[in-house]
Amino acid sequence: MHDTRSDPNSLSSDAEFTLQVRQALLSAKHTIPKVAVLLFALDNDGNALVPHSESSRGVHNSVSMRLRSALRDSDTVAVLSSGQVGVLLQSVSGAQELEHVINRLLLCLAEPIPLADRSLVITPRIGAALAPEHGESVHDLLEHAQKDLAKAKTAIQPYSIHLSPTQNLVSSRQWMGELRQAIVSDQLFLTYQPKVNLRHQEVTGLEVLVRWQHPKHGIVVPDHFIPFAERTGLIIPMTLWVLQQSLLQCRAWHDLGLDVSIAVNLSMWNLETQELPGQIAALLRDTGVSPENLELEITESSIMSDPQRVIRTLSQIRSLGVRFAIDDFGTGYSSFAYLTKLPVSCIKIDKSFILNIDTDRDSSVIVRSIIDLGHNLGLKVVAEGVENARANEILQGFQCDEGQGYHFCCPVVAEAMTEFLSAPPSAVTEQTSKKNENWQPLDPAH
Ligand code: C2E
Ligand code: MG
Ligand code: MG
Repeated sequence: MHDTRSDPNSLSSDAEFTLQVRQALLSAKHTIPKVAVLLFALDNDGNALVPHSESSRGVHNSVSMRLRSALRDSDTVAVLSSGQVGVLLQSVSGAQELEHVINRLLLCLAEPIPLADRSLVITPRIGAALAPEHGESVHDLLEHAQKDLAKAKTAIQPYSIHLSPTQNLVSSRQWMGELRQAIVSDQLFLTYQPKVNLRHQEVTGLEVLVRWQHPKHGIVVPDHFIPFAERTGLIIPMTLWVLQQSLLQCRAWHDLGLDVSIAVNLSMWNLETQELPGQIAALLRDTGVSPENLELEITESSIMSDPQRVIRTLSQIRSLGVRFAIDDFGTGYSSFAYLTKLPVSCIKIDKSFILNIDTDRDSSVIVRSIIDLGHNLGLKVVAEGVENARANEILQGFQCDEGQGYHFCCPVVAEAMTEFLSAPPSAVTEQTSKKNENWQPLDPAH
């Protein structure tokens, strides 16, 4: 094995990588973040590199150094004797962040690798597993990553993240048919959660959050089926369904005299489709909702996959009058420079920083800095995951523009939201006490 942390040319054994994974697993037991293991197979245009050849050594060195420069100091990169490259991430919040990191690593390997006599285009394949959910022993973790690497080698998507048992349920062929069916029948339904202006404590908009009412398994939360919908391409019709239904609902609220805006989440795969701007224009026309009443939430990783192309698509949609927000801000790895180039008007600070803002000094410093950064760039800043009055107060003190979270209201179905919106404007806090008694989140997982 070849640990490139300090000196990319110093050789060590596979055993050291295993030891580092074991140590990371032991220390992760005492902290909330998770540990991830990634195995990379490096092919040249679909052909495996000739093992131990000069070119394979050159490729391994360049790949290791590029990966090293894109990771944190605490992470490990190792060239294994199998010819694969192993990466150990010491601290990830979950599968979503893991996917962000993988996209970033793929991006840094996209440029051809210069060798002495030519340059090589590498088509890496990645298998990944997370601890503790995919196994708590080094053996389990490496085995899962290895199996997923084999899957990634035959898939369109160049990486595969191991699925936990519940996710596996959702990934079976049978469920794929069921999700397809769920989109055309009535099994998907929408919930709405208000964003609240922190100074006036008034509702400014509603985020649309999809749920699946499965006939046998009950309510399935999006974190369990959206990654699957993305892998199978079902995310495209699903997003159009969400957009259509929520715009129709928005129109119904307007007809009732309730002046609301909605925010719909987009996946990175939606931004890949060239038809999206035209489809959004047609949906706005058909439902009669003004574009100012629609916001689209995108994540940092969806921008980083192909920034130039994404900026073009976003600009086309922006020219319709639709606004954009960057969701889960702070969890991705995007360069701040992109913030100034994107047609976005808002950033939403990820809830992981807000949930412990009252007890964790680091979180509160980060939140304050993001708010200042956003304001200096002329952006509105929204805090997600406001769960209590103390967080609300702190964020008000930081001049954060808006908040979203259980403190104000859980995601609820349209009828309950109509009731919430129809109450007198000053009632957000009164309704909060009502919510605390009766308005439980639909998903116990949250
Ligand atoms: P998100 O867009 O960041 O949505 C916020 C998530 O935080 C929601 O989870 C919401 O229920 C939860 N939340 C709200 N307030 C609080 C709080 O005070 N405390 C805590 N702990 N959590 C809170 P949900 O609905 O399970 O959605 C999870 C993610 O699934 C969303 O994260 C979004 O990325 C994705 N998603 C949801 N609906 C759609 C959709 O229609 N399309 C796409 N592409 N993604 C969606
Ligand atoms: Mg969102
Ligand atoms: Mg979010």
